[in-house]
This record gives sequence, structure tokens and C-alpha cells, in this order.
Amino acid sequence: MSESSVHQTDAVVIGAGPVGLFAIFQLGMARLRCHVVDVLDAPGGQCTALYPEKPIYDVPAFPKIMGGDLIDRLLEQAKPFAPTFHLGHRIEGLARTEDDARWRLTTHKGTVIEAPVVVIAAGAGAFGPNRPPLAGLERFEGTSVFYFVARRDAFQDRHVVIAGGGDSAVDWALSLAEVAASVSVVHRRAKFRAAPESVARLHALAEAGRITLVTPYQLHALEGDDDTLTAVIVADLDGATRRLEADRLLPFFGLATDLGPIAQWGLDLHRHQLVVDPATCATNLPGVFAIGDVASYPGKLKLILTGFAEAAAAAHAAYGIARPGEALHFEHSTTTGVPGVSNENTASRSSLAATRP
Ligand code: FAD
Repeated sequence: MSESSVHQTDAVVIGAGPVGLFAIFQLGMARLRCHVVDVLDAPGGQCTALYPEKPIYDVPAFPKIMGGDLIDRLLEQAKPFAPTFHLGHRIEGLARTEDDARWRLTTHKGTVIEAPVVVIAAGAGAFGPNRPPLAGLERFEGTSVFYFVARRDAFQDRHVVIAGGGDSAVDWALSLAEVAASVSVVHRRAKFRAAPESVARLHALAEAGRITLVTPYQLHALEGDDDTLTAVIVADLDGATRRLEADRLLPFFGLATDLGPIAQWGLDLHRHQLVVDPATCATNLPGVFAIGDVASYPGKLKLILTGFAEAAAAAHAAYGIARPGEALHFEHSTTTGVPGVSNENTASRSSLAATRP
């Protein structure tokens, strides 16, 4: 590999979920450049992949914000720092450079990035859906079979079969019943494991004929022409089958939560999370930090707002590693402004805030 194909930067952020995206901003405010790597093709982690159109109510200053809208705002906030994104890349390797001065990260596509600082914001790992064991499933994936709903409109007037009994299955059944031609929910038990209020609404819509509950049944086979699904065959516990006409299938069997290669890097682990010092989010490896859902310490709350605070702590501590011998003086953003953004109102905004009741 030629030297020119190796990217050099101050920090590599592994994971472009909400916490990784906010880390770009915090690193930028500490004047550290970064590259961001995510195995998914789009930024946003769980917010984009699992609930882009669901409202979040506990992000400070947003009484209600959709998962997708939060990601758009985080991207906008990170933009002045011009991060380099490597989407569709899974980080496989982490090793010290020959001179032991930096970390060398390699992706499964062969991209190499070197930096003194690594910020792991990998959530539950390089996640992927649990796929049902159905013959010929791959043929329909991406055209008729989806594991995530990015846009509800894509299911307008479709005959949708949803498989699963948890929150995702129930929530999307309720949501898609408003736009789809038909919605059937296949679950191997009669009881659903979702929020009681949602389950009550599901049964009410079933009684009103807007949703068909197909329980206790499991997915058995798929029918279709080329890559277009025409029916889903389900089977009960005795093996008796039933045919559901469908042109879309949404299997919601949860995520495979495997840290994957990250678990092999010599980091201290506690129940599939990385052990960190809560004051700095430093792991046991020098210059390697962990923030967001992947980080573990006593009392850890897996919330977006917790991850945001961890991003700030990690960026502050990272500065001393990326710029050894230089001190980072703590200053509010109202004082520093944001590099590359018009900041002429910073002083007056802070004095205005101080006079508010
Ligand atoms: P993630 O969002 O999980 O992102 C991690 C990213 O890292 C992923 O994109 C993954 O592909 C990538 N990655 C992992 N390993 C690698 C690798 N080796 N190479 C490259 N990329 C990698 N939280 C709240 O605060 N409020 C809520 O109301 C709320 N509602 C939720 C509703 C649902 C249905 C779900 C599922 C979660 C909810 N959460 C909520 C939790 C919240 O989404 C998570 O806390 C948050 O997404 C964690 O962000 P993160 O950036 O740490 O990780």
C-alpha cells in the first residue's frame, strides 16, 4: 500500500450515530480534525436505521423532534468542521503505527486512517438486522423485504406483512395502517411485547378491520416473480400454512448486537460495552475513547443526551493527546464562536440569555 493512500488526521470517530456526529462538533471546537467511519450507508445510527420518523421527547431544548430531523441538525452543526465521512466502511483493525506514535485503523474495504486519537461511538456495534431463515430471502431484500423503514410514504397503498412482536413491529403496524392498503402482523405468540398503550391501539385497529393479526404464526416461505414479492406463507405451530398476499415484508426481529472486531482490540469489556473513566471517557488504551451506547461505567444511562455530554468530555481529554504539551483552556462557545460560522452575535446572545427570567 502506498503512503499516499493512508489518510492522516487528528481523530477517527468510529460510528456516525447521534453521539458520533456530536463528537465531530466537540472535536472541532477543540480544533481537532476528524474522519468518521460507519458501516451503514447513511449517517444517524439507530435514529436513522430504526426510528427516523418517530418523535424523541428527551433531547434538551427540543420538546419533540423526529429521529431523522435530529440527525439532520447534528450534521448541520458538524458541517463547519468539514469532517471526512467513510460511509459503508466497517472498521476491522486497530493497531499502533511502527513508531508507536499513532493509531492505524483499517476498514474492510482496505481504507487506512492514522490518528493519535480514536473515539469509538459504535453503539451496539456494527449492527445488522436478525434475518429470518427463509429460502430465497436475498432475492427480495431491498426491493420487497426491508428491515428498517426510512420513509413511511414508500409503503403508501402497499400490502404489508410485518413480522415480530416487539415495539418496532407494533409501532410500525400502527403507523403504516394509516397509509398502506393492508397491514398484517405475524407473531408466534398471541401476546405482544410492546408498550401496553401501543398494544391496546393495535387490538383496537384489528377490531376495526384496519390491521389483521396473524397469531400464533411464523414466517414460512416467500412467493414472488423475480425480485417482486407477491405473497408471504406463514405456518402455525402444527405446521399448517396460510397464504398472505403481500408486496412488502418487514421482519422486525431485533438487531444483532455484536461488537464484532472492536471486541478483539484489547479493550476492557463489561457486558459487551467498553469500560471507560466517566470523567474523560478514556478506555484502557492510550488515546482511545468510547462514548454513547458503547461506553460503560457505573450508573451509565443509554440516552442520546448522556452521549452528547460524553462527547464533550472525550474531546476535551483528546486534545492533550493530539497536541501534547499544549493546554486547552476551557471556554464557552458563546465566547469562542464556531470556526467558519458568522459569530458576530455571540456576545449579545449571551447577555440576552442572562437577562431572561
Ligand atoms: P448508535 O446510534 O447505535 O450508532 C452507532 C453507529 O456505529 C452505527 O451506525 C453503527 O453502524 C456504527 N458502527 C459500529 N461498529 C462499527 C464499526 N466497527 N465500523 C464502522 N461503524 C460501526 N434514546 C433517547 O435518548 N431518547 C429516546 O427517546 C430514544 N428512543 C429510542 C427508540 C428506539 C426504537 C431505539 C432503538 C432507541 C432509542 N433511543 C432513545 C436510544 C438511542 O437511539 C441511542 O442511545 C443512540 O442511538 C446511541 O447513539 P450512538 O451514537 O452511541 O450509537
